[in-house]
Formats: sequence, C-alpha cells, structure tokens
Amino acid sequence: MTATERTRPVAVDTVVTGEWIITLNPDREIYRDGAIAIAGGVIAEVGKRDAILAKYQPATLIDEPRSIVIPGLVNGHRHLLCCAKGAMPEGGQTLSALRQFIYPSFAALTEDDMAIYARHAAAEMIRFGTTLFEEPGCNHLDAVLEALAASGIRARTGPWTWDQAGPAGADGLPDWLAMDADAALERLREGIHAVRKFGHPRILDAVTIEGVGTCSDALNRGAADLAREYDSLFVLHKSTSQAEVELELRVFGERPVAHMDTIGALHDRVLLNHMTSLDEHDVEVIRASGARISQNPTSALKLAKGTTQTGKWKELAAAGVPMALGTDAENVSNHTDICRAMQLAALLPRDATRDPNAISAEQALEMATLGGATALRMQDQVGSLEPGKQADIVVFDTDNFDLRPLHNPVANIVYGSTGHSVDTVLIGGEIVLRHKALTSLDEQALRRDVEAINRRVLGEIGIAPLPQWPIR
Ligand SMILES: [Zn+2]
Repeated sequence: MTATERTRPVAVDTVVTGEWIITLNPDREIYRDGAIAIAGGVIAEVGKRDAILAKYQPATLIDEPRSIVIPGLVNGHRHLLCCAKGAMPEGGQTLSALRQFIYPSFAALTEDDMAIYARHAAAEMIRFGTTLFEEPGCNHLDAVLEALAASGIRARTGPWTWDQAGPAGADGLPDWLAMDADAALERLREGIHAVRKFGHPRILDAVTIEGVGTCSDALNRGAADLAREYDSLFVLHKSTSQAEVELELRVFGERPVAHMDTIGALHDRVLLNHMTSLDEHDVEVIRASGARISQNPTSALKLAKGTTQTGKWKELAAAGVPMALGTDAENVSNHTDICRAMQLAALLPRDATRDPNAISAEQALEMATLGGATALRMQDQVGSLEPGKQADIVVFDTDNFDLRPLHNPVANIVYGSTGHSVDTVLIGGEIVLRHKALTSLDEQALRRDVEAINRRVLGEIGIAPLPQWPIR
C-alpha cells in the first residue's frame, strides 16, 4: 500500500455529526463530539468527529456539532386504523370507549381514507423522531403498504382481525369485519402473504388480533401458531384494564396473561400491548415465556387504566422483559410523541413505588429505542447506532429551552425534550426530515385531507366533539 492510498478518504454516502452521540451499543458508549459514517443505508462506523471526518469523504455531510444524536425512536403501538385526534368523547374508559366510539369510527374508514391516514401518521411520527412503528391491525392493508412505503418510515403491520367470540361477547360490536375463527386465521395468513409479496425492505408482517375480550381461544392459539410458523410477531391488546381482568376471571377462572399461557398462546414471538393490570404471577409468566410488551403511558392515563396501581413496570424491567413505548391510536393519546411517552415511562413507576430509582433515565431512553426494536423482534436491524445496523438516526436541535443548559444529554432528552426538538431524521440512511421539514410528504396537504375525513366520519357515527364550556 502506498502512502497516498493510506491517507485517501473512504467515500461514503453520509456523515452525521453531533455534540453527543448516544449509541445504545452493547457497551452503551456515548461519543462526545462524535460522528457516524453511513454507506448504502447502513452504519459503517461510529466514532470521534475528528477521526470520522479524517477517514471518510461523505457525499452529504449533516454537520450539527451542537446536537444530540440518538437511534431512531420506536413506537410500539400506533394504530393507523383510527380517527379524529381529540374527537373521542371525554370520560370514556377502555371497554366503553372501544364499543361506543373506537370500533364505529374504524368501520367508517374507506380505502382512500386509510391511505391518507397512513401518510399523515407517518408524517407526524417522522416529524417527532419515530423511525419504526408497530401497527396493531389495519384495514385496506394494500393501500396502507403503498402509503407507508412512500413515506419512508419503517413498520410492522397486519390486518385488523377478530372473531367477536371472546369472553366479552359480541354485544355492542359492529358487523364490520365479523367472521369466525377459521376465516379470521385465513385473513391473518393472507395478511402475512400480502406484506411479503409487497416485499418492501422497511415493512415487515405481523399477526394482529384485537384481543380485548373480542377473540376466541381458538383464534388466540391459531394466531400464536401462525407467528411461529412464519417467524413473525403475534400482536394483541392484553390486560388493558382491571375490568378486562375481572371479566376473564369470571369467564375463564384465570387472569388474561395466565389464560394465554394455559391455552398455549404465549411465547417469545408475542407482543402484548398495554399490560396495565398485572400481578406478580403475570410478571413471572411473561418473563418465562419470553413475550414482549408495549406500554403506552399517555393512553393508559387518559383512559384511566390504573397503570400506576397495577402496571408492574419496575418489576417487568427488572425481569428483563423487552419493552417498547407506544402512543396508541391518536384519539386515545392525542399525540404520537415518543419523547412524551419516554418521560412518563421514567416517572410513573417512581411515583407508583415511591422509589426514585424505579426506572432510570437510561432505561427509559432504551425502551424508546433499542427496547422497542427488541420488542418488535427487529433488534438485529435497528435500535442502536453501531456498524452493520440500518442508519435510523434522530438528530435533536439543542438550541432551545427543552435541551439547554446541556450537561447530561440522557437526562435532558428523557425529562425535558418533546418531539418538536427533533431537527433531522434518517431512516435506512435516507434523509426523511431536515431542519424540521419533511422531505417526502406534504405536511399541510395531509393535515387538510385528514381533517376533511374526520369531519365526514364523525358525522357518520354521530359524534360532535366540543368543549363542555359554552361557545358563543
Ligand atoms: Zn391499540
């Protein structure tokens, strides 16, 4: 090798710099004045800024030397099949809200609506730093796949599925997508085939059933088996309220988690959403099964699920259960900002246990990134900033009251940031947000279109959301 060859910079697509690069690599290293080199959508190297800039010649340099850079945020539970942020009547709890507002609004959405909702949701998530999300069952799957592929976001999804033969009975459920267990399992299988045939590298399949008292044991067991057969992820809502637990105790004589275990539907390819009503035995059953969880703190609080009384978040974390953070449907959270979920994930368990060390800031940031990727069984591809992983990267603008003064970047991000501080986002090396502007989606047009759909759907289901105070 000649001297010239030794010193010639290596050509890469992109280099991203930051004041703090929080890697979440196996040693949890943080680089102060660091940089990331990216080639072919994949991280080539993470290191000190001077060394990376000396070694690599990037086609694009994202030079943000005052920023905090973290792996892409993961939303472990975000419905696309949902309607009308802020439209859900106030005062609803899980079981009543589902049957009076959520299911009817789902049923009203057309294929064109779903395509627009999917693009709008992706736009909002990307704007706030989410690079990967789990969609727990949508309708018009083909339209959703097209929309997500065009948006640049990474996702796992499948078709909305139930057989309306669960312990809660069929009373109050819409006719929409009513089918028996065999037909439901066929729909799930077709969903896997549809996603795989679509063949987009950023979109993976999931076996998605609803689960809150609406699905039979046969469907639960069959869905769990499908996830094994296809090496996929079985996603469902579970232990979402004390009322659900009491219902299953009445009908089955055991709690929801224990019942899933009894019927052979709990294993390491299962992602359980919500999980706000647990006991110590549930925690042990989940740990032993290898199942994963998405906790959705703002949804839990808004629907009064009792997450601080019966959530067991400290115990689940101590047991090493892979945990994602989610925001749930936009009408039960009114936002899709994982920064806000991260703050609550750190703080709620502390108040619940009166233990300021119940969940650390580092644990909360891990749930929002690598933990989420692990919960979605995608930790080999994303979740941390290390060579060989997909370049899913979030750059926070720190020149604001969220993040300055800046001494401990982990604490500032977890306690102080909101998604509005996200400045730049890369997904698989593609720049999808730069200086807070989306590169592939028209934010204003999507807002206009979504509001028009919402007005139509709310008219169809007879809901007019307004404040309780007189409007003159
Ligand atoms: Zn949900």
